[in-house]
Amino acid sequence: MAHAIKFHPGMPLLEQHAEGTLSADVALAVAAHIDLCPHCQQLSRDITADLACQLAQQPVKTNTTDWQQMLHDIMAQPPLSKQAAATQAQLSAQPAESIIVNQREFVLPRALQRLAANHGKWLHLGGIATAKLPAGNDYHVSLLYISKDTEVPQHTHLGLEMTLVLAGKIVDENGEYKAGDLLINSPDDTHTPRTMADEDCLCLSVLSAPLKFKKGLTRLLNPLQQFFY
Ligand SMILES: [Zn+2]
Repeated sequence: MAHAIKFHPGMPLLEQHAEGTLSADVALAVAAHIDLCPHCQQLSRDITADLACQLAQQPVKTNTTDWQQMLHDIMAQPPLSKQAAATQAQLSAQPAESIIVNQREFVLPRALQRLAANHGKWLHLGGIATAKLPAGNDYHVSLLYISKDTEVPQHTHLGLEMTLVLAGKIVDENGEYKAGDLLINSPDDTHTPRTMADEDCLCLSVLSAPLKFKKGLTRLLNPLQQFFY
């Protein structure tokens, strides 16, 4: 990646991700960020090594017979047949999953590929399109496409909002976010994300509660709220 990613999940989230204690939907956003971010890949490796080290220091009662049985079972497994090996090679040679929206093709991070293959129908509103991903139940997880020169109306958050930029760039009152940047907004944050005049943007959006739009006519805001959640 040509540019440096500026917005990372931070150590507590990376640690919880390595420990496997995050909700599946939050873990998805963190995993997809890690796929795009060499810095957090390194941190995650360090955290995992630390965890393994801590585990290794814990006294473990080892049953010798179990170990021998396990070794025996591993050795007894038939070697991979030529055909299976060929299939595996084929699978790994397959190009990365991509999705197409607004006649644009986007390659997705590994962590999202399987889910994105089963995304819901694209719903369009103005220059914005959203497709739900079949992820966990605690959060609303979707792909969010924003055409160039388009603004998401100003909103605050009733819960946690995580937005991972997958391609392109968005700006809001607080900064500028490019591919790999992870924005985490809490209920106190109000912002108006928009794209630049010459570039569209694809994001992963993870929401724990609906957005709350601030401006405009109430009768128009309710459909807007439903559109995003
Ligand atoms: Zn990072």
